[in-house]
Amino acid sequence: MHPCSHDLSEPTRRDFLKQAGTAAAAAVLPRSLRAAEPRRPFEVSASLYAWELHDEGVEQVLDNVQQMSAVNSVYLIGVMHPERRPFREGTFPHNPVRQTWMAEDARCYWHPDPKKYGRIKPRLSSNDWLNRTDWAQVLRDAARKRGLRFGIEQSHTLVDKERAEGEFADLAQRNIHGEITHVRDWLRPLCPNNPATLEYVRAMSAELIANYGMDYFQLCMILFDESVDGRPDRGGGCFCDACKRTAKEAGLDLGKIQATLLADPVAQPALGEWQEFRFQSAARFYQALHTSIHALKRDIDLRYNLHMTNPLDWGVKLTAMQPYLDSLRVMDYSEQEGDPALMGKKRERLAGLRRELRRDLPIIACVGCRLKATPELLSEGVQISVQTGMDGIALGHYDGATFPMLRGIRAGLVAAKVPV
Ligand SMILES: [Zn+2]
Repeated sequence: MHPCSHDLSEPTRRDFLKQAGTAAAAAVLPRSLRAAEPRRPFEVSASLYAWELHDEGVEQVLDNVQQMSAVNSVYLIGVMHPERRPFREGTFPHNPVRQTWMAEDARCYWHPDPKKYGRIKPRLSSNDWLNRTDWAQVLRDAARKRGLRFGIEQSHTLVDKERAEGEFADLAQRNIHGEITHVRDWLRPLCPNNPATLEYVRAMSAELIANYGMDYFQLCMILFDESVDGRPDRGGGCFCDACKRTAKEAGLDLGKIQATLLADPVAQPALGEWQEFRFQSAARFYQALHTSIHALKRDIDLRYNLHMTNPLDWGVKLTAMQPYLDSLRVMDYSEQEGDPALMGKKRERLAGLRRELRRDLPIIACVGCRLKATPELLSEGVQISVQTGMDGIALGHYDGATFPMLRGIRAGLVAAKVPV
């Protein structure tokens, strides 16, 4: 798809010429050379959490990721879902203050102005040592001094379970039985078809652009919860009233589809219509957000974090969503399992995405620098990312990475001849 055709804002003549020139140059170059010529510097990004900035100190953290892994882009996890840190098991390898941390449920780590928000407002941490500091400002100021790209991520949940089941129960996604979706104990996603959900993400992104001038906004909010094998009776929804209203505007009777699927979860064409409705709903959410945040900052990078290997089961069809994305982060942490046999699958997956998606969509591949990862596997993961035409890599995640792991990433970049 032509990159201009999706952008509802009017492209300038200069943009058009730039894109036309790139396309013309790409057309005459052999494919291998095209892949080797990134349109922008190869990105090496690292996620950072408020508690590690507090515990280790922002300058120490940035020294570490820059020196050991050649990081040129950092982002704050601005809203984090509840999760044990470091992930799964073990203790922080370089945190001088604490061994582990249980992230609170969907708390935000910048200082929001409630007046800038509608019905949903961000909720601060309950811990004074976290909520007294504006961590987005801390990281932004330090990153800018070093010339690093700076982003903010919203991770999985927009609001905490307590509020999703309470004051926002009317916004929560509903499964086929009309219950609040409860696939995972901690997760109660809000419906992307509810106008209040979009209003909240728009307000959040506007505040983060205005106050921190972020270069990229990374979203890995759950659009629709997982429905196993794409079946409506195995997991997520959504069959809420907002979805029914939205479907009606598109000429679809979602109530009737729901009744049909309740009787037979694989009945066609109802199943296909419901799945397509999810795909289109997810794409429309990004379309609306893409338009509004580009109106606020023309060169903002709206990055979608592909947090699953089976996006269709989560209501995400990448080819429908990609016109409204500025980049994609692929969550593949194969290295963390410590099994060299998994690296072939990683290569296949990345190469497959590169073929499937438009060539000018920057794709950032993760490397899993934690758990059982080795420096050798991380170096290999980086090289695979370069060889499959990725536009960058993302460390997943600094908080669980030993220093040898971090150095393995730099070694991989050097081996792949990426300028560091
Ligand atoms: Zn819904």
